[in-house]
Amino acid sequence: MDPKQMKPASAAAQALGWIDEKTRAVSPPIHNSTTYLRDEDNQYRTGRAYIRADNPAYDQAEALLNHLEHGAGAMLFSSGMAAATAIFMALKPGDHVVAPKVMYWGLRNWLQTFATEWGLKIEFVDAGDNAAIARAMQPGKTKLVWIETPANPTWVITDIAAAAQVAHAAGARLAVDSTTATPVLSQPIALGADLVMHAATKYLNGHSDVLAGALVTAKDDDFWKRLKAIRHDMGAVAGSFEAWLLLRGMRTLYVRVPAACRNAEKIAAHFAKHPRVAAVLYPGLPSNPYHTVAAKQMSGGFGGMLSIRVKGGEAAAIAVAARVQLWKRATSLGGVESLIEHRASIEGIGSPAPVDMLRLSTGIEDAGDLIADLEQALSADGSTGYSRES
Ligand SMILES: *Cc1c(COP(=O)(O)O)cnc(C)c1O
Repeated sequence: MDPKQMKPASAAAQALGWIDEKTRAVSPPIHNSTTYLRDEDNQYRTGRAYIRADNPAYDQAEALLNHLEHGAGAMLFSSGMAAATAIFMALKPGDHVVAPKVMYWGLRNWLQTFATEWGLKIEFVDAGDNAAIARAMQPGKTKLVWIETPANPTWVITDIAAAAQVAHAAGARLAVDSTTATPVLSQPIALGADLVMHAATKYLNGHSDVLAGALVTAKDDDFWKRLKAIRHDMGAVAGSFEAWLLLRGMRTLYVRVPAACRNAEKIAAHFAKHPRVAAVLYPGLPSNPYHTVAAKQMSGGFGGMLSIRVKGGEAAAIAVAARVQLWKRATSLGGVESLIEHRASIEGIGSPAPVDMLRLSTGIEDAGDLIADLEQALSADGSTGYSRES
């Protein structure tokens, strides 16, 4: 079957149906060679000369991600940060950039420090409000609109199609950090985005054991060529084994992400009216202010990420995290195991994370077990043993 005809779940499970022509292996080999033989007439007909640009371990993972995101090209990087910062490094000092107030904190910090010192003019707006993005645009000067949806750590949703229109009307590109949505739930390029970024460390790999990033482009244009040159010259490339593990992880993407979404939905519904919970932040809840936009641009679920605000403030929230037994107290997200984190503690000063908030990355465990563990952790006396009353 032509891989192009396959439904995404089939394309992912079979890594586009790839087999090794020489050995008939259904899983690709890992080539560790850093260099490639030149032809006798001084050509490089295989297209590969040196591993920094031409690692064959990237081919299948990039092809699969490109297929799932409806792109015109994909590139792996050494981390999500390497993929994201490449886009900003491809701009020129003096360029104006519009970015969200609520976004992955590591990138926000880098934009406020290095990128600003380097000369980018970065304006942070409420990206949950498309009019705020529109007001910030400076036609001719704004070269990039950066959004993240759902956005860490409060899950603000940006209307991708509307943001693309606003960006394009001012002559800017739209780049989307789609780490938490994954191509399973939304495909930003189909909605008008120019570039999609993934921290492949998270859902794409899905097992908390690979650091990698990726970019996908809507067009194989000059900006994409510039991004390729940045990866090649700055050298933030993924390792061969990481790329191999990433492809292996992506094969189960369409099983893992829907399972995590189902668990997150159950947890959100269960704790929405819990006496010890002040608020559940999850775009899948009909009462969430972003629910309508999320439902419009996401299909198959609202993601595995949610946050809960604990009654009693910061100390109460940290105490709840201290009492979990099944959930793991750890940063990061998108793995098969559920993680819980007091987000303000890791983001530090300037964080939009409320101090009473715990961020939950829902894994694929049994929903009843996950709910029971949170129930016992929320019980003020700290008693262990699961109790299901709420
Ligand atoms: C983790 C993360 C990043 C950074 O990715 P790394 O692989 O850790 O460099 C960027 N954006 C989002 C939304 C993330 O969750």
